Amino acid sequence: MLRAFAGAGAGLVLSACGGDDLDPFAAYRQPEASPDSGAAGQAQQTDQQQTLELAPVQQASQVIDIEPLPEPAVYIMPNPVAQGQTVLIVVVAPGADTASMWWQGQTFSLLHSEERFVGFFGIDANAGVGPQSLGVAVWGRRGEQLLWQETVIEIVGGDWTVDNIQIDGPNEALLDPAIRRADEAQRLPYQTGLTPQLHWLGVFDPPVDGAITALYGEQRSFNGGPIVEYHTGIDYGGETGTAVKAGNSGIVSWAGRTRRRGNGIIIDHGVGVFTGYYHLSEVLQTPGTVVEQGDLIARMGATGLATGPHLHWEVVVRGVTVNPLPWIRSLEFPDPYQALNPANALTSTNLARG
Ligand SMILES: [Zn+2]
Repeated sequence: MLRAFAGAGAGLVLSACGGDDLDPFAAYRQPEASPDSGAAGQAQQTDQQQTLELAPVQQASQVIDIEPLPEPAVYIMPNPVAQGQTVLIVVVAPGADTASMWWQGQTFSLLHSEERFVGFFGIDANAGVGPQSLGVAVWGRRGEQLLWQETVIEIVGGDWTVDNIQIDGPNEALLDPAIRRADEAQRLPYQTGLTPQLHWLGVFDPPVDGAITALYGEQRSFNGGPIVEYHTGIDYGGETGTAVKAGNSGIVSWAGRTRRRGNGIIIDHGVGVFTGYYHLSEVLQTPGTVVEQGDLIARMGATGLATGPHLHWEVVVRGVTVNPLPWIRSLEFPDPYQALNPANALTSTNLARG
């Protein structure tokens, strides 16, 4: 009786696994079972899978297509990766149905585009350095797992400068950490979603014609105090009213005002990539508007915590503010459609060679 009940329970779990990739890696994170129980568990699963798949096939008198699919090839670029960089994952898997990756306790679906699956994630400027585990899984159309690959990404330190900024007058009140937290909380929902499309093709444009006046990653203290934050984007200098353009195509996800950032606008470029534009004098687009690369979206200003007119420009990848520079440089751009060298793929053959 108990055995029958347990069997039915396992069957339910198995059928849920087919279409639900919320946590396909859960099994891999469980402590390793003994070889005996592992083999038994596997045999049981195989039984159920055959029962589930054979029943409808026998009714329809069809032949099961057992043509093996080519082994998926996984590309992780770059590796090693520096603090502040964006990591691009490309999985080349003809005939596969879904793919996802596991990173720091989170599972992300990868975007399916022709024979590739594509995903991005960001490394925080102050992320811990050293090896980090990354998992990639690929499934076929009948829910069969084609690949499970666990590999290591090496995070190396960025080379950040330390900057002490003097803030006085009415702006000094904006240094209150509670105001910073409230600002972040207000913008968070508009730059952390996952739109399952890629709205752009090709390198991003700088958002203004102007000189960069502050770099990403700079460790900041205010009025001689301790370091309290890092600079989450790059600043462009200019005059109030200077045209601010969309770095690339996307959909406006937020347009509004916060006390620290002043007037701002956020564009969702899809696949978890967002750009944010702040301290604006004017915002010229509204949420939900589709913008093309280079479209006028706002005008430069000095609203919020600003010592003068400038644009603060951010790139956010899966919720992490990353260095925007690689996104506007063709040689460093994380291009999901770049030509790939099979020798760099993570496959069982290449791993055996290494
Ligand atoms: Zn800034």
